[in-house]
Amino acid sequence: MEQTETTAVRQPYDVIVVGAGAAGMMAAGTAARNGRRVLLLEKMEKSGRKVRITGKGRCNVTNARPPEDFAAHVRANASFFAPAFAEFDNRATIRFFERMGVKLDIERGDRVFPKSGKAWDIANALLEFCVENGVKIEYNTRVTEIMTVGSRVFGVRYLNRRGFVRKEECPQVIVCTGGVSYPATGSTGDGYAFAADLGHTVVPVRPSLTPLVTSHPQAKYMDRVLLRNVRATLDIDGETVREEFGELGFSERGIDGAVALRMSRDAVDALIDGRSVKLTLDLKPALADEVLRERIRREIAEMQPTEFFAELLRKLVPKPLVMPLAQELDIHSKCYIEKIADGQIERLIRVLKGWVFPIADYAPFEYAVVTAGGVSCDEVDPHTMESLKIRGLYFAGEVLDLDADTGGYNLQIAFSTGRMAGMLKRRR
Ligand SMILES: Cc1cc2nc3c(=O)[nH]c(=O)nc-3n(C[C@H](O)[C@H](O)[C@H](O)COP(=O)(O)OP(=O)(O)OC[C@H]3O[C@@H](n4cnc5c(N)ncnc54)[C@H](O)[C@@H]3O)c2cc1C
Repeated sequence: MEQTETTAVRQPYDVIVVGAGAAGMMAAGTAARNGRRVLLLEKMEKSGRKVRITGKGRCNVTNARPPEDFAAHVRANASFFAPAFAEFDNRATIRFFERMGVKLDIERGDRVFPKSGKAWDIANALLEFCVENGVKIEYNTRVTEIMTVGSRVFGVRYLNRRGFVRKEECPQVIVCTGGVSYPATGSTGDGYAFAADLGHTVVPVRPSLTPLVTSHPQAKYMDRVLLRNVRATLDIDGETVREEFGELGFSERGIDGAVALRMSRDAVDALIDGRSVKLTLDLKPALADEVLRERIRREIAEMQPTEFFAELLRKLVPKPLVMPLAQELDIHSKCYIEKIADGQIERLIRVLKGWVFPIADYAPFEYAVVTAGGVSCDEVDPHTMESLKIRGLYFAGEVLDLDADTGGYNLQIAFSTGRMAGMLKRRR
């Protein structure tokens, strides 16, 4: 009698992680530390390209405020994020990097940075976490398809470093491909296509934490103006929806700085819906109108009558703002101070306390810090990050419909969801 023997071929990896960004490295290292055989595929030539440019090269790695205050800064699906954050919160992130040898500092606004001031230290610590736990990493390797059999993951197809199509079979895949902002770093939205092909809903993506483009005629003369301690109010269809205090700047990309970026989440959505958006700046938030009036009168009293109006403005605002402000007031900068009428002083007070900038557009994904929208959180289990549609498929990081304010919250989203996905718990 002929004897047949079937030997199951053991797949070389338990899990493939797609994307070596903040979420992918956290997920891969976590899975490997828990004894899984992990393959991490990254399409760029090195890991963490985006992490390396975060926080203007300094990496605002998380925010140290009390965990219970965190949710208020997560702008979409905060309740979905809660279990992942409970598993690995901001204190856990701080402990993680300190254990990896990165000393951290807490700065204004509870923002946490590496003491060295180098985002590379964060990216290298994440890579080290993978390497020391035995993750196999392939660079210049672009995943093109998540393979499934029925509603189970079966592996991935990818283009290898020589541009040839190859496949790797594996029962579990974690998609950590990021969003579409700053695409030069490698995040070009591939994960959305994988998810959509597998029947997932992808919430339309929009730039967030992105500069706002104003139609104000003076804005083009305000390039590089940086204003500290201003109060800004965002109005949508005439109704105030947000008020922020802090730093705001003008650049060739639009109005940016922390205050404008935080407001951009609401502004972008309103502009997409065709609503009218305006930003009003109070340049003297600490001074009530009456106090400001007194201050201006005092400054004028101390000036020579034949000094120019511009010199008064110079005492009130940063130098690059003097000419645009004089233009806005329609007063010649070389008008003698003795000629300035009471009505013009009143107008100056009104503009200093409420300079209105109509918002006509927003800067595209190339300049957006994060992507709003993404794989719908309704179709992912918040306790495991596993797809509710495909067994063995997990998502983590910005590819999900999760985004937050500036201040270290977005990287925390990547770390918490990456950690949760890397635990490879099975949904019930
Ligand atoms: C300029 C800038 C500054 C920022 N500063 C901060 C900050 O200071 N603090 C903060 O909290 N957040 C900051 N952010 C946001 C933060 O960097 C992101 O939210 C975070 O990096 C998202 O992590 P991620 O792992 O989900 O995605 P990414 O970090 O974007 O990683 C995705 C990875 O997947 C890879 N990939 C994509 N498609 C494929 C594919 N098909 N095959 C293989 N690999 C693929 C990409 O190459 C990339 O390496 C900043 C963002 C920018 C752009």
